[in-house]
Amino acid sequence: MSTATAPKVGFVSLGCPKATVDSERILTQLRMEGYEVVPTYQDADVVVVNTCGFIDSAKAESLDAIGEALAENGRVIVTGCMGVSESAIRDVHPSVLAVTGPQQYEQVVNAVHEVVPPNIEHNPLIDLVPPQGIKLTPRHYAYLKISEGCNHSCSFCIIPSMRGKLVSRPVGDVLSEAQRLVKAGVKELLVISQDTSAYGVDLKYKTDFWDGRPVKTRMLELCETLSSMGVWVRLHYVYPYPNVDDVIPLMAAGKLLPYLDIPFQHASPKVLKAMKRPAFEDRTLARIKQWREICPQLTIRSTFIVGFPGETEEDFQYLLDWLTEAQLDRVGCFQYSPVDGAPANDMNLEIVPDDVKQDRWDRFMAHQQAISTARLQRKIGLEMDVLIDEVDHEGAVGRSWADAPEIDGSVFIETTAVQPGDKVRVRIVDADEYDMWAELV
Ligand code: SF4
Repeated sequence: MSTATAPKVGFVSLGCPKATVDSERILTQLRMEGYEVVPTYQDADVVVVNTCGFIDSAKAESLDAIGEALAENGRVIVTGCMGVSESAIRDVHPSVLAVTGPQQYEQVVNAVHEVVPPNIEHNPLIDLVPPQGIKLTPRHYAYLKISEGCNHSCSFCIIPSMRGKLVSRPVGDVLSEAQRLVKAGVKELLVISQDTSAYGVDLKYKTDFWDGRPVKTRMLELCETLSSMGVWVRLHYVYPYPNVDDVIPLMAAGKLLPYLDIPFQHASPKVLKAMKRPAFEDRTLARIKQWREICPQLTIRSTFIVGFPGETEEDFQYLLDWLTEAQLDRVGCFQYSPVDGAPANDMNLEIVPDDVKQDRWDRFMAHQQAISTARLQRKIGLEMDVLIDEVDHEGAVGRSWADAPEIDGSVFIETTAVQPGDKVRVRIVDADEYDMWAELV
């Protein structure tokens, strides 16, 4: 599609999968208008940097990326989560051309128009864009964003103030996008939002239409319909509300990947209360047990925060004991770091010193690694399907249904006779704390 006259845009996409989806939408629009997306600063007429502003290290990374784009190209537009604090960007990089916030697709595109006008002779032929839009993920998997914003007010989080209250996409739109993606070759859909179990609450679970039939804008109906599309469907950012029970039988029946990404963040009731976490109470362990009775192969991945203000040694020990009981498969852990503007900063709770945070993080990781390792070891000898992500001269790297891209482990297979996007049957021959090794069956 490269033409000498097409205006050229460089794009740097940082942050979480939700930001990636935003990037894809901006790129899709620009491609439809005839812009060419180029991979180097030197070739670009303007560079868009989609930033992340979630924690301090992400902000620093965003500022570095803006600085690099300014040094290498000079014409830079900033968008994304960090765009909500324009002054924080302009204080460091006063020469950026425009700053817009998350989901401000039109504003970003307008800013690009001002710097580099679209080629007015360009006829926006729809075939400039593949039917699934521009995907920044490999061709065989795609994120499917079902809503924006969040109705909760976790005390460490500024997402509700950055992204607003929950706004669900009508289920017909989501399903149409999913179908386009599947037709374009996507083999795995990763459902994302800030709170997937709350999908449709804001629309009062309104009935929408898809493929000539009524479908409710609700997690269960969304999952049921997605599961009829013949691809892997994986749920992220699920909170353990009672309605999650409804999708477990779909997982047990093999319709939905038996995988739940639930950001528990902590287990101590006192810390969870201070964090103002939704849907967490003493029964969570009982729920997990009940889910596993219905669907024994269920994989649960989660993230936790250690060193939240007010966390005592007793709270931390409670968390370790909870992990022993919960037997989660995949776990990430962060040391708490205050986020500007988050309510937790004003709660007058005792700050946990950095050395204590580090010590708890080390103990947490060692504790959970033993659990994850033991759970992976049990898979040695099993046969399972693996979706191939990459192939090089040394072999293939894929993922089982229990592994989400980028955050979980990989399955290494000694073969070059497969392609990215292939689904192959393997037997697991070895495992460590994260990854598995397998042979083709
Ligand atoms: S659920 Fe809590 S942590 Fe997640 S986006 Fe909403 S407020 Fe933030």
